[in-house]
Amino acid sequence: MLVGVDWGGTKIEAVALGEDGEQVARVRESTPFSDYEGCLALIARLVAQVETTAGRTGTVGVGLPGSLDPRTGLAKGASSTWLNGRPVEADLVRVLGREVRTSNDADCFAVSEAVDGAGAGHRVVLGVIIGTGTGAGIAIDGRAHHGPNNSAAEYGHNQLPRPDVSEIPGPACYCGRRGCVERWVSGPSFARDYFQHASVDLADPPRLSAEEILEQVRAGHRLSRLVWDRYLDRLARGLSVVVNTLDPDVIVLGGGMSNIPELYDELPSRVADATFSPCFYTPILPAAHGDSSGVRGAAWLWKD
Ligand SMILES: [Zn+2]
Repeated sequence: MLVGVDWGGTKIEAVALGEDGEQVARVRESTPFSDYEGCLALIARLVAQVETTAGRTGTVGVGLPGSLDPRTGLAKGASSTWLNGRPVEADLVRVLGREVRTSNDADCFAVSEAVDGAGAGHRVVLGVIIGTGTGAGIAIDGRAHHGPNNSAAEYGHNQLPRPDVSEIPGPACYCGRRGCVERWVSGPSFARDYFQHASVDLADPPRLSAEEILEQVRAGHRLSRLVWDRYLDRLARGLSVVVNTLDPDVIVLGGGMSNIPELYDELPSRVADATFSPCFYTPILPAAHGDSSGVRGAAWLWKD
């Protein structure tokens, strides 16, 4: 049996999978905010809970909202910045009493979709999560690709490529730099961009969500269409760096923005415009496992 834990910024979830991927048990609770020891204790309790339900013990893989320095084992780059500098894997081994495999949450997403999701059958899978932030992971032959720095596919913290004058220096990012791709393509960034454009024309512009802006696009509103076009162009420019470097066999999208169906019709031609190669045959697909991909991929970290 394979147990996966998704250690997210707002919730921690555990799942037990059988060897064929069938779900045996699943639990989730809110993340104790800024409480590192509280998170470790909760993870130990959730793992015990799914194992009790399943009636057996399993291997444990944990998806982290950051990555570990491969030499020191200390967390780095976590958007929950209070995790940074903590010896996360060693502490998980301590509280769980067994060997634990960890990976970045976006890596787990890519692994899940590569093993039995939208990327199944493809060798090199790029998983891209576009939600409150953006992150990406690479799975090769169903395994997370880890380089010597554990920083593969961190395209979200590249600067937005080919910025125009209005995009320089760009909004501040939690990583300490400005103009990161993440700060242009996340759901809140899309909503912020709409609000800023609407503020030019209206004294009291509405604060619309991403889905509300898309409803306006569908109804033919000019301003929303403009903001959506700029969003697609920025998303494509960000992805072009990964395509120019890795040329993955498939790109699988997850996170809240991935639920917008228009993305799959309108994004590929924008990526073709932004990459060096004028052809772009790579399928861009929505995740098959939706919000469950992170926790399923964590479990699959132990797949042979
Ligand atoms: Zn950044």
